[in-house]
Amino acid sequence: MFTSISGRSVLVTGGTKGIGKGLAAGFAAEGAKVVITGRDAGLGDRAAADLTAAGGTVSYVAGDVSDPASCAAAVAAARDRHGGLDVLCCNAGIFPAAPLHEMTQAELDEVLSVNLKGTIFMVQAALPALTESGRGRVIVTSSITGPVTGFTGWTAYGASKAGQLGFIRSAALEFARSGITINAILPGNIATEGLDEMGPEYLRSMEAAIPMRRLGSVADIASAALFFATDEAAYITGQTLVVDGGQIIPESLEAMG
Ligand code: NAP
Repeated sequence: MFTSISGRSVLVTGGTKGIGKGLAAGFAAEGAKVVITGRDAGLGDRAAADLTAAGGTVSYVAGDVSDPASCAAAVAAARDRHGGLDVLCCNAGIFPAAPLHEMTQAELDEVLSVNLKGTIFMVQAALPALTESGRGRVIVTSSITGPVTGFTGWTAYGASKAGQLGFIRSAALEFARSGITINAILPGNIATEGLDEMGPEYLRSMEAAIPMRRLGSVADIASAALFFATDEAAYITGQTLVVDGGQIIPESLEAMG
């Protein structure tokens, strides 16, 4: 149905576990050549080995998106290994909770540095390579939390995720004549290592709040990202796609029937 993306060079930040590893698996399964980043090298090497064993072309490079030099090094790795860069998935993110009355400046800075500034630093670093590609794609992992919904304790996180959307809309205009599109996916609650850390009670209450009565899978997010990466999605830019099993729709528990 869609033109194959086999052979495209893809960089996934935060690709060592969770949604990012799922994105890498999805692109690798379509024959793309993938570089994943993350700070923990042990985790990164294991993730790359897993995905390679599954038949993909996937390698790891150490990277911290809050550091512009590290972002440049990640892009250089993708170019060196795969001859360029066609798709950038800005997925690395953290979600520590802190009630507003307790939140320190350091905690706020960390969330904004990784989630918001990290997205901007990565896109800046990748821009020359994406322009050379002629069909560059940027796919940002935002969230329903912030852009659409709120959650006690996640003010900084919500602000960072909503900020990503403000960023993509203006970036889309800057890129519109260079063949680069930039779009965002807004996941609901997706089963990942990071979400597991929220504990079983959180996971149960989330399942109850989702009309489809299940958490999303990383493959659900990868499918949306693969669509944005296709040639057929070339005319879609500056847009958002909610992937949440219907979670944002009901106005109350009763509304779910
Ligand atoms: P996760 O399981 O905790 O994985 C996070 C990934 O990001 C890891 O690879 C981690 O590796 C990496 N990372 C964290 N800080 C980084 C940094 N400074 N530089 C580079 N890599 C970094 O999280 P997840 O649940 O998959 O979430 C991934 C993205 O989806 C995040 O942006 C999150 O906000 C978003 N999201 C998740 C959900 C959900 O339900 N899971 C819902 C909505 C949105 P290291 O720690 O080794 O660096």
